[in-house]
Amino acid sequence: MRTFDFRKVVLVAVPVATIGCYTVREAFRARPVTAVVETSPVPNGDDAADDAAIWIHPTDPGLSLIVGTNKQSGLETYNLDGSLHRRYPIGLPNNVDLRYGFPLEGRPVAIVATEDRATHSLRIFVVEETSRELREVSADGGIAVGMEVYGLTLYRSARTGAFHCVVGSKSGEARQFALEATAEGTIGGRLVRTLRLPSQIEGMAADDELGALYIGEEEGGIWKFGAEPDAPAEGELIAPIGRAHPLYRPDLEGLAIYRTDAASGYLIASSQGSSEYVLFDRRAPHAFVGTFRIDDSEMIDGTQGTDGIDVTSANLGGVFDQGLFVAQDGDNDGGNQNFKLVPWRAIAESFEPPLPSAR
Ligand code: CA
Ligand code: CA
Ligand code: CA
Ligand code: CA
Repeated sequence: MRTFDFRKVVLVAVPVATIGCYTVREAFRARPVTAVVETSPVPNGDDAADDAAIWIHPTDPGLSLIVGTNKQSGLETYNLDGSLHRRYPIGLPNNVDLRYGFPLEGRPVAIVATEDRATHSLRIFVVEETSRELREVSADGGIAVGMEVYGLTLYRSARTGAFHCVVGSKSGEARQFALEATAEGTIGGRLVRTLRLPSQIEGMAADDELGALYIGEEEGGIWKFGAEPDAPAEGELIAPIGRAHPLYRPDLEGLAIYRTDAASGYLIASSQGSSEYVLFDRRAPHAFVGTFRIDDSEMIDGTQGTDGIDVTSANLGGVFDQGLFVAQDGDNDGGNQNFKLVPWRAIAESFEPPLPSAR
């Protein structure tokens, strides 16, 4: 299934619309970058891969993993060279997220959250550091969400240390669960807040340090909420589609945060309709920074119709010394869908002057 490439239309349409307005066109021009690694394709055809999360190995960054969702069969993990590490046939996940330091049975563990659309439940896994394998720790084999599930994000409060998972439904409703260890060594969820958005939502990201929750309304734009459970249930539309950027097209899909320091960085959105990635300032009022796209290289095809994304500013070594950006590729040349890995350095250096890197 080929995805229609809006860039071909844009190349024709933009010069006409911006004659005499070169600086505006230049500001909106998507910077081209290329992937240096692509993952092993998912085993299912059609629309299958969706979202990704990066797990950073605590002592050897080269042993870090990409956790990807396969909407038709479960989770997959990949090594940084793109090779498959493990498959987990755990149901019908859609989005995935990860946080470090959850206190479970007396030790801090990294947890991965995904949802199962077959059972409308949240599924929580621990990443075992030695084997680099996922071990399920969901209470009752899955935390009942009580509605159809679609997107999600984890949130670890810098203020209270509490862990939350916000899960969204196509109806526009989002439910926030406090994640808590049980006496049995599992993780349960307690509903603490409900948010309602105007239409279908999916992509989400939480800013642990700044206490912000971002939810993508697929045809509306990015909404910002306070992430604490006692924050107001009213959000602010900070990046409306159609106004924030002319090439930012529905569906708005994945959201991710690149951190340059405790308060600065970028909020990145997958603009699925234009096969581009839009950067906004992480700090309010979240000014538009620019866009980039992942083009074909000699070895690896570019991305089209991206669903989920993730990014880290951690130094993973080599070309990933300023971090790593991961994007789902909706149209992987010659195979089923997969994920493309781009050095953050390449994205930063595609801007003039280069974007500041993490400190
Ligand atoms: Ca898709
Ligand atoms: Ca979607
Ligand atoms: Ca998606
Ligand atoms: Ca592609």
